[in-house]
Amino acid sequence: MINQITKSHQANLETEFQSSPPKSYWFQQLDLAEIARQYSTPLYITNRAQILSNLQAFKNILGENKYIYFPVKVNPCLATFKILAEQGCGADCASSREIQLARLAGIPTSQLSYYSPAPDLSLAVTLLQDGGNVIIDSISKVTALEAQLGNIPFSGKLFLRVNPPLYNSYGAKADYQKHTSHGSLTSQFGLPTEEVLPFLNATKLPFSGLHVHVGTQMDNVEVFQESLDVLHELCDTIHALTHHIITDLNLGGGLGIPTQEEDQFPSITELGDALKSKFRPEFTYKMEPGNALFGNATALLTRVVTRKSTRGKGWAIVDVGSDQLLKVTLAGFAQEIFRADGTVLPKSGLDSVAGPLCFAGDVLLPETDLRGVKEGDLLLLPNNGAYCRSIGNHFNGYSEPATLIVDDSQEIGLAYTSEDPYWEPTIQSFQPYYREESDLFPKTFSDQQVENIRSVYLNKQCGKDTYSFHDFTRVAKGHYEMSIEVDSPVAFISLPTVIRIISDAAVAVTIDNLGLAEKNISVWGSRSTVSLNSILRSKRRHRLSLYLTPMMNSSNSKKQRAYRLTGN
Ligand SMILES: *Cc1c(COP(=O)(O)O)cnc(C)c1O
Repeated sequence: MINQITKSHQANLETEFQSSPPKSYWFQQLDLAEIARQYSTPLYITNRAQILSNLQAFKNILGENKYIYFPVKVNPCLATFKILAEQGCGADCASSREIQLARLAGIPTSQLSYYSPAPDLSLAVTLLQDGGNVIIDSISKVTALEAQLGNIPFSGKLFLRVNPPLYNSYGAKADYQKHTSHGSLTSQFGLPTEEVLPFLNATKLPFSGLHVHVGTQMDNVEVFQESLDVLHELCDTIHALTHHIITDLNLGGGLGIPTQEEDQFPSITELGDALKSKFRPEFTYKMEPGNALFGNATALLTRVVTRKSTRGKGWAIVDVGSDQLLKVTLAGFAQEIFRADGTVLPKSGLDSVAGPLCFAGDVLLPETDLRGVKEGDLLLLPNNGAYCRSIGNHFNGYSEPATLIVDDSQEIGLAYTSEDPYWEPTIQSFQPYYREESDLFPKTFSDQQVENIRSVYLNKQCGKDTYSFHDFTRVAKGHYEMSIEVDSPVAFISLPTVIRIISDAAVAVTIDNLGLAEKNISVWGSRSTVSLNSILRSKRRHRLSLYLTPMMNSSNSKKQRAYRLTGN
């Protein structure tokens, strides 16, 4: 495996003599043809070593990984989160589903931070009681939280998100900033700094942290320095004029990354140099880097499906577009595109690279020169570790690409297979929010313990349930309707009985679908999805609709099964 995806030394030498690109990037070391052959396209390729080196640079600023809270919204990929969780990072979450994902990755509650402009208060209460961090930024929500928490003490930490009037913002102007200036004066986020004192004096709840997030793709360090100064001044005033003791300052995320050769962004180290001299010993500083932590660690591999020209304009239509790259096609982020030989496509010319969707805006590179680019060629779209998968969609029936993880030694592992439309991803089987920390840890049950928690009815008695089919109808090819009636000693139809009925019906419809009048072959199904609208009563007739779908024979279906068995 190791050698298979790394270009041979010889090939490297050859490219050095060609017009080699001015910078070198990790993905230029990969043998993209071999990767595409093994894993197909489109494919996310994530470099573990790059994530770890970005993380180290943030750790150099903050002292410890535990003060780095990765924002789940940036790239909700369990495999990458596990890398960060192993390093001791926390997670910045905006919903219960993001919290579930962070917990599955192994983040302890004390390192979960929950912020939403539309918070779920019961989730906030649970988190605070379990020792998590909750960020609030509205008067109505703090009042409601106070009422729900009552006088019961909690072990978690409350943060107030503030919106300061900053003089510095973006240095250069770009289209995407209308979507990314979270810290602008009139944005919906944060409590205006001038309202902080009355807010804190009016609440009985103890606030121990302040939070600020200036925006995304920030291109200068001054905006971070200035917001840090504002937080420090606010703390001095708070300590002088309120009973709150602020110990934690969360500086949010926001450091941008270059996405094209001419972009100028400070490095993580430069950001650190600008901030560290200002840090004060009485505070613990936290950050939520998204783009700067993940962005350059993932590239998206795509293939040219169609080459055509319309009235002299050349097009390369590739196999991924606005389904994953809305940030490029709608929000206006620049996208460089590399050929498989590691050279970059020019950014001027009469040709364009477009995604596969039936949407005229699905254009990834509006002006380029496609001479030499043929159908079947591989192209690589770097800097797509942030805000791609998380805002992916199913427009035109496209589904999420697989993710391959590589690292410095080029060892590889498929972290995710491509999404299967007949199988909702793992997240569907996630547990509801865990109350107890101990639920996170493995536990081995004795046979007796299992016996004690099993349902006697489902275990022993449901075998006595009987059922019958009525009005069995073939509505269309692969679509059947029928009624079922169950005779059961309990008032409802139990799940094992439902599964028996469906399996039985599935055999019948498969036999009919094959054009047979009798069951004289064995029938094998690989997957069934059951949806029940409500609790179903026994001794009544219920409608059952059954749809047969052909088996999906994707190139990596074997791997998918292996992943599901081991990965869940
Ligand atoms: C989006 C967001 C981040 C991450 O921002 P980046 O620009 O990707 O670093 C961090 N914190 C909060 C509150 C956010 O909304």
